Parts: sequence; C-alpha cells; structure tokens
Amino acid sequence: MTLQSERHITVSPERREMTDGQCYLCGETYTKRGMNRHLRSCLTTGKEGTNAVVLRITGTHRGDYWIHTLIDRETTLATLDSFLRDFWVECCHHLSTFEISGTDYNTDNPGAFGSRPQRGRSMDVSLGTVQDRHTIEEFSYVYDWGSSTHLTLSVVETGSWKLSSISSESKEDPPIGYDGLLLLTRNEQPDRECSTCGGQAEQICQECLMRRGPDAFYCEACADEHDCEHPRFLLVMNSPRSGICGYPG
Ligand SMILES: [Zn+2]
Ligand SMILES: [Zn+2]
Ligand SMILES: [Zn+2]
Ligand SMILES: [Zn+2]
Repeated sequence: MTLQSERHITVSPERREMTDGQCYLCGETYTKRGMNRHLRSCLTTGKEGTNAVVLRITGTHRGDYWIHTLIDRETTLATLDSFLRDFWVECCHHLSTFEISGTDYNTDNPGAFGSRPQRGRSMDVSLGTVQDRHTIEEFSYVYDWGSSTHLTLSVVETGSWKLSSISSESKEDPPIGYDGLLLLTRNEQPDRECSTCGGQAEQICQECLMRRGPDAFYCEACADEHDCEHPRFLLVMNSPRSGICGYPG
C-alpha cells in the first residue's frame, strides 16, 4: 500500500484563517476566527440544560476545513468518533485514536483495518470523565495510522445547554443526527483551482497528489485529458480527507 500524506495539500496560514463558514443557528457567514466569537453570542437559547462543551474541530494540516459542535458532557468519545467518521473521514474502516494530554483513546474494533499503538484506553468513555481526568483545552484525533488524517479539537466554550431545544439548521443530507451532539457550523467548500486551466477543480488525481502535491487538482475537461503514469481520480470533497485513500465523501 502506498501511503499518502495530507501534508501534500497544506495551505498557507493566511488562507487557513480565511475560509468562511456558516453558522447553522442563525444562517450567517463568518470567518473561521470570527465564528468562535460569534457562537458565544449566538448560543443564547436553551441555556437551562446539562453541562456541554462547544468544540471547534479543524484539519490539523488542512485548516481550511473546520466545524463547530456542541457536545453534552455525557456523550462518549466513541460517539464523537462515529460522528467524525460519518460526517468527514470514513473511507474503509481504519483505526482511529484521540490523543488527550498524552493518553491515547482507541477504537475497540478488532475488525478495524490497520495497525495502531497497542496501548491506551477505550473510547467508550464520556467527554465529562475525560475532562475530569485531564485539563483539556486542545486535543487531537487521528483517523487511519497509514495515510493519516489529523484533526485538532479545541474547547471554545463550556456551559449548560439543552441540546434538544436548540435548532441547528444544518443543510447536511442526510441530516447528522447523534444523541448528545449538535453540528453548529461548517466551512464553505474551499476553492481549488484546476492545475491545467485555472478553472474550478472537481477531481483529484491521487497519483499526482502523492508525487506533486497541489498540482493534482483538475476540472472535468482537463481530467479527461490528464495523462500521468497511473491516473486515479477522486472527487474534490468538502473534507480534510479529500483525495486520501479511497475517500468517497
Ligand atoms: Zn449564529
Ligand atoms: Zn481507506
Ligand atoms: Zn482545467
Ligand atoms: Zn495524475
């Protein structure tokens, strides 16, 4: 198996902060940085609830992909893992790990594909328990120990909210429905230019992604004409795993 690296499509720090996204509570658009501030004032309904945490989750090396979630303290890391897989990263059931203050929390899935460090704890633990165990402001997530996708999760706000009374106008299809977890925001699809004609890219050649990095994006017409050693195309998706392994979106 050839390993691919998301580092091949890193973006400049300026561009990382530039991607706008939508707040699903009010429908307004904000920058990545502005959204943290915005959510503190937008999340005013449903205050009398249980303890919950607003987490920003962003591609560690592909920071123009980002979301915010509101997560109940009772919600387990396993649920957060399932959500991240379904919503953003799943391709072929690779192993995944949360790394929190030096402790690994791994998937309990003997059928999962790949190898992983043989130590660590189970993901079947609530976020609240983890917060009591470690002081966490930021932690990380790895999906797939081969061609890895790394995510950085940071605590934006803690408070008490009744999740069921907050309506998130997420336009995701199918809707993302997880108990104790609400999707609050998402980045807009970042612009990717066709490396041949400069038009809007729709396809990524995995072979070229591996060898040449950013010059792997093509529009449909140029993809048809594309002629490298082993052309293998994946659609450009709004995900930090776009173009990696067999990520179908
Ligand atoms: Zn809002
Ligand atoms: Zn895969
Ligand atoms: Zn083109
Ligand atoms: Zn190619």
